[in-house]
Amino acid sequence: MFCSNCGAQVNDNLTVCPNCGAIMQGNKPNVTAASTYVGPMGDPTPVLTWGIIGLAISCVFGIIGLIFSLIGLKKYNNYKSFTSGAYSRQAEIGKKLSIAGIIVSIAVTVFWILYVVVIVLWVNKYTGSLYC
Ligand SMILES: [Zn+2]
Repeated sequence: MFCSNCGAQVNDNLTVCPNCGAIMQGNKPNVTAASTYVGPMGDPTPVLTWGIIGLAISCVFGIIGLIFSLIGLKKYNNYKSFTSGAYSRQAEIGKKLSIAGIIVSIAVTVFWILYVVVIVLWVNKYTGSLYC
């Protein structure tokens, strides 16, 4: 049979495509084999990892944290589409951390922009020029 995800020809007795890792829809002789399969996209751990890193970095480096958090959210979407919406506590926590990371990173970025603006205005007010 052929993989519905990547189109590769796959041995009929396989439940997972060796080419892309997709679960073979036509072959479901063993449900536990599919549900316990841990692959690059079927594993919720990266969602949690990227979520934690994203939130942690967001608190210091807003923009970089935003990128990490967006990757965390992307990993979550990949996980959900790959597992057909399977529930995972790790993935759910990772998603919440990623969203929190995005909010924090934006807040931190806005704070730093305001901080710089205030400093510039303050320097201007008391010195009359930025360069004196
Ligand atoms: Zn495939």
